[in-house]
Amino acid sequence: ETRHAKPSLTIHLCAPRGFCAGVDRAIQIVELALEKYGRPVYVRHEIVHNKFVVDGLKAKGAVFVEELEEIPSEHASRPVIFSAHGVPKSVPADAEARKMFFLDATCPLVSKVHKEAEIHFRRDREVLLIGHAGHPEVIGTMGQLPEGTVTLIETEDDARAYVPKSDRPLAYITQTTLSVDDTAGIVAVLQERFPEIVAPHKEDICYATTNRQEAVKEVAPKVDAMIVVGAPNSSNSQRLREVAERAGCRTSVLIQRASEISWPDFEGIAALGLTAGASAPETLVEEIIGAFAGRFDVTVETVRTAEETIAFNLPRELREATGPAT
Ligand code: SF4
Repeated sequence: ETRHAKPSLTIHLCAPRGFCAGVDRAIQIVELALEKYGRPVYVRHEIVHNKFVVDGLKAKGAVFVEELEEIPSEHASRPVIFSAHGVPKSVPADAEARKMFFLDATCPLVSKVHKEAEIHFRRDREVLLIGHAGHPEVIGTMGQLPEGTVTLIETEDDARAYVPKSDRPLAYITQTTLSVDDTAGIVAVLQERFPEIVAPHKEDICYATTNRQEAVKEVAPKVDAMIVVGAPNSSNSQRLREVAERAGCRTSVLIQRASEISWPDFEGIAALGLTAGASAPETLVEEIIGAFAGRFDVTVETVRTAEETIAFNLPRELREATGPAT
């Protein structure tokens, strides 16, 4: 009897990958709110951009809505949680007007950018936001200032075409989950055109975004293909896929579950890179490794380019009376 040996495959596992401190905190806020206040707990927008996470919280009693109006009036006193991406100022104002009880799961690193926007505005600076149109974080950050105040810059071409609205000093802020390299290119154009433009004190692109992109850059040249575990609407995950592609991976795909793997793309490969966006749980990474192990003789090697120790405090309401932290 002949047994066909499975082909060998080395999986280079990027580290850091997956959950960041802001995502971890946001999910904990929903879980603790469910424990403390019972069900239902409303969540405005996907708490983090991951279907697996959202479905898990739905099963525990979280109800997801896009806008506060969708919350039935008989549930107006139930807690409502704002997602990690942040919300325009109008949202908490609206919640207060409706006397709703809300918990804000906005990542503290997004809130930091919100504060920068306000400081620039108070100092009478014209504010440019580098980011992607339509992403909830961009909507939230633009919504910190009066409508029409913030100009969105998506590309180097936008930076070249930008015409200041006045002769006030300029300042820029950015989305937290951008491509580090693309953003540097856009900033270079702005700085060349407007040498006086005020930059963030410390990079607005967050540590998690930066570290995940670094790890992908390290791994990409060693592998034939890269898989990024994450959702199509996850900005940081999309950027990881692009980073791998630009670093030369002939196959670089973003997938949510093992069932989405297109096996012909991985035929004959000897080395696979694997990472996960900041909103993708580790169990999905394990699921992908398991699927490959069914077809290949898999060796997993972790490639670590940074250590992460950052963690954020929970909102006061949830720190009290919820027992010891786990
Ligand atoms: Fe916060 Fe960065 Fe995570 Fe976004 S990706 S939630 S900004 S730590």
